[in-house]
Amino acid sequence: MRVLILGGTTESRALADALADDRRFAPVYSLAGRTGAPLLPCVPARVGGFGGRDGLAAWLKLERIDAIVDATHPYAAQMSANAAHAAEACRVPLLRLQRPAWIAGPRDDWRHVASSDAAASALGTTPLNVFLAIGRSDIAAFRAAPQHGYVVRAVDAPDPLDLPPRATVILKRGPFALDDELAVLREHSIDVIVSKNSGGDAAYAKILAASQLGLPVVMIARPPLPVAAECAGVEAALDWLDTIVQRAHGANPSERGV
Ligand code: NAP
Repeated sequence: MRVLILGGTTESRALADALADDRRFAPVYSLAGRTGAPLLPCVPARVGGFGGRDGLAAWLKLERIDAIVDATHPYAAQMSANAAHAAEACRVPLLRLQRPAWIAGPRDDWRHVASSDAAASALGTTPLNVFLAIGRSDIAAFRAAPQHGYVVRAVDAPDPLDLPPRATVILKRGPFALDDELAVLREHSIDVIVSKNSGGDAAYAKILAASQLGLPVVMIARPPLPVAAECAGVEAALDWLDTIVQRAHGANPSERGV
């Protein structure tokens, strides 16, 4: 069974690696090609966009894809929408593997906003030291709030034209440890953190650090996505693929990997 895994997350790589030795599956791992040195699983990979939903639909047919697992980041809304539409058009079963969102605890001070633009406005007029931990693609919105100083952390260097005037860039890939996050926040006298609600463990330490230091977090809401079958973890995605392969072969349930 040919399975397209839309990737770019820890879970997508774990799923691809879990399928690598299972001879029932021929997975193809797909990346947008945003990062210079991407982490890749041990299965065949392709890199680059498909050309919108119609391009993806054509690719699904050409490659005779039997199932899709959309394991992209929760904020990769365009890709998830394209996957939902192309899967429906081609009648290919689709599962969205998405990490549960973080939930604010009693000690967390989160200010909820709908977008990066709204986050820039929510910072207010008084100059602050802002830790921008949202990746590099949405940084340009903060050029509208040049009164603040920013520490921008990303895997790859942002386009200089996207940066607000007073920005320090830290190039680093997660996972991040609590002690390191506390050190960054203290070293740069950070007043407020801007974050996406990515979920998972790799990026959570900054939220814990904010809580410990009593710092507010401007939390950008997850974008809305089309309705699709969803699961929260790799094991559940493997169970779903088991079901799909059994249905395709009209077989009785069998042990995974046999
Ligand atoms: P996006 O805005 O939803 O996608 C924009 C376009 O990029 C898509 O329409 C598609 O181009 C292409 N694309 C996106 N993901 C792709 C994939 N896995 N394989 C092939 N093409 C893909 O996506 P994004 O937010 O820029 O994210 C890009 C990648 O980075 C995704 O793989 C995502 O999982 C990963 N990522 C994103 C974030 C984030 O905060 N957004 C964080 C961590 C990792 P076509 O229309 O031409 O097909």
